[in-house]
Amino acid sequence: MKRDRRVKIVATLGPSSSDPETIRKLFQAGADVFRINMSHADHARLNTLVDTIRTVEAGANRPIAILADLQGPKLRVGTFESEAVVLENDATFILDSDPTPGNVNRVNLPHREILEALEPGHRLLLDDGKIRLRVVECIATRATTVVEVGGRLSNRKGVSVPDTEIPVGALTPKDHKDLEAALEAKVDWIALSFIQRPDDLAEVRKVTRGRAGILAKIEKPQAIERLGEIIDLSDALMVARGDLGVEMPLEQVPGLQKQIVRACRRAGKPVVVATQMLESMITSPVPTRAEVSDVATAVFEGADAVMLSAESAAGEFPLEAVSTMDRIARQVERDPNYRSIIHGQRQEPEATGADAISAAARQIAETLNLAAVVCYTTSGATGLRASRERPTVPVIVISPVTATARRLSLAWGLHCVVSDDARDESDMVDRACRISFQEGIAKPGQRIITTAGVPFGTPGSTNMLRISFVGSDGRGGL
Ligand code: PGA
Ligand code: MN
Repeated sequence: MKRDRRVKIVATLGPSSSDPETIRKLFQAGADVFRINMSHADHARLNTLVDTIRTVEAGANRPIAILADLQGPKLRVGTFESEAVVLENDATFILDSDPTPGNVNRVNLPHREILEALEPGHRLLLDDGKIRLRVVECIATRATTVVEVGGRLSNRKGVSVPDTEIPVGALTPKDHKDLEAALEAKVDWIALSFIQRPDDLAEVRKVTRGRAGILAKIEKPQAIERLGEIIDLSDALMVARGDLGVEMPLEQVPGLQKQIVRACRRAGKPVVVATQMLESMITSPVPTRAEVSDVATAVFEGADAVMLSAESAAGEFPLEAVSTMDRIARQVERDPNYRSIIHGQRQEPEATGADAISAAARQIAETLNLAAVVCYTTSGATGLRASRERPTVPVIVISPVTATARRLSLAWGLHCVVSDDARDESDMVDRACRISFQEGIAKPGQRIITTAGVPFGTPGSTNMLRISFVGSDGRGGL
C-alpha cells in the first residue's frame, strides 16, 4: 500500500476517533501519523489507543508513527464564586495567590512562579487571547492589572504571558508522568508544548534517551527568538499556530510559519504545520475555500506534514477531514508550479558523505528518470537527509529497525519498509528491487538507485550508490 503524495498527514485521535474501525479507516483515508493529546488522554486511554494503532499497523503491514503530545506548562486562572465574571474595559483586575473563588475584582492565579516573574507593562492574554490585561503593579503574591480588552471570563480559562519568560521547565509533574507512560507504550514521537529555551529540550532528552524522537512545538515568542538553537536540539518541530496566534499577533503567524518551515527544511528536520487547517470541518462535511488554500500553502512550501486537531479528534467528519487533506495534497503536488517552488527552497548538501550521496542519488534519479531512490538506514539519519533533498522520484527507506521506519513515517516523501540489513552488495540490490516492485513503486524494466553504507550493518556510514534494473520477477537485474 503506497500513498500517492509526499506530504504526510497527522490525525489527532479523540472521542470521534477512538474505536479500532475508525482508526483503521483514518489510516486508509490517508493518516500517516496518529497524535494522542495527553491533555485529554489518561494512561489507560493512551495504552488502548497505542494497542489499537499497532493492530491497524500489523493489518496494513505499513509502519505508522504515534505522536504523544505533552500538555506542558499551560497556565490557567482559578475559579469564580459565580462561575464567570464580565471584565469591563479599563477596570482594575487582580491576579493573586489566594485560592478562594474570585469575583469581578480578583481571581486566583495558581502559579506562584508566574506572579513572581510578572513585571509592570507585561500582558496577560486570557481565554485564547479574547481578554487582554496589562500589569500595572506587582509583588510576589499579586499582580494588579488594567483590563485593556474585556469580556466574559469563566472558571479555569487559559492564561498566556507572552512578555514573560516562565521560570519553569517545559515539563510539569503531570508531563513527567505522561512522558514515562508514553515511552513505556513505545510511542515514536514526543511533542513538547510551550517550550521557551533550548534547555527545555535537554531536560526531556535526558529522560527519553533515544527511545522516541523529540518534537518541539513552537508556540511562544521566546522559542521564536531562539529558533536556531531549538532546531539544533530537536528531532522535529511543529508550527503550533493555535497558541502561537495567541502569544503573537495573528497577522505574524503566516510569516512565522514560512520562517519555521524553511529553517527546518534547511536543517533537514521534519516540520508539521498544525491547527485550524480544516477547522470548519468539525461541523461541516466540506471545508471553506480559505482552509483549502491554507493546507495548499503548507504543501507548496514543502512542509513534512499537515495536521488535523479537533477535526479528527472531536469533529463530526473525521474521515472526510483526512480524505479532504489527502485530496488537496495530491492535487497541489501535481500542480505545474509545485516542483519549481519546492526546488526553489532546496538546500545545498552539507559537507558529509550522507549528504553528498543523497544529493547525487536525487540528481541521478531525476536525470535518468528512475523509478525510485532506495535508501538503507538504520538510525534514520540517512533517510532524513534523503528527504531533505525533496526528490521528484519516490524515496523508499529500508530499515532493519521497526522504530526507525515508524519514526520516519512523519518525514516528507519517505515510504518506509522494515527489512533486514543487506548481507552483501548483490543482496542489497536484489532486496531494493524486490521491495520497490512489491510496494508498487517500480515496474519490471525500470531502474532504481540505491544508497547504502559499506560495510553493511555499520550505522552512519552511507558511502555508496548503485543503479540497477528491476527484473521481470521484481528481482534485481544488472
Ligand atoms: P495544542 O497545540 O493543540 O496542544 O494546543 C497546537 C497549537 O497550539 O497549535
Ligand atoms: Mn498549543
